Amino acid sequence: MSKLLDVTVETKYPYRYSCGEIGSYFFKRLRDEKRIFGRKCPKCGKVYIPPRPVCGPCWSPTSEWVEVGPAGTLEAFTVVYFTFLDPMTGKTRPVPYGYGLVKLDGCDSRLQHFLSESDPKKLKVGLRLVPEFEEERKGRLSDIKWFKPAG
Ligand SMILES: [Zn+2]
Repeated sequence: MSKLLDVTVETKYPYRYSCGEIGSYFFKRLRDEKRIFGRKCPKCGKVYIPPRPVCGPCWSPTSEWVEVGPAGTLEAFTVVYFTFLDPMTGKTRPVPYGYGLVKLDGCDSRLQHFLSESDPKKLKVGLRLVPEFEEERKGRLSDIKWFKPAG
């Protein structure tokens, strides 16, 4: 049997999409003011980050903006040791790096984000975190560079 042929193909799919009214509000406040706002359900009172137009459990339209965080609590984490292409940048991210689920103060949902700490011995569930913002922000979730231990 002959060796299988290996073909390299490069494709690019540049695209833009509208964030909608709710996403635009959220990302503009993040970019321009380094403040994080969630949407609150008028029926059950849950606050969502990223903001949602409708509450999942109640099916009620969310109607109120509330500022959350910026501090939060680490609820789960991993340390990534294998490099792969970051779908947001198309580049590999240096390893190791921490990645976690962060529950911001005043919010009922969790945000998945990078952590400044990559030593698993220094990470633990319940760790208090604060966001570190990029100097040049573009209206994206990556305007938060990562979450770092508070204090
Ligand atoms: Zn609700």
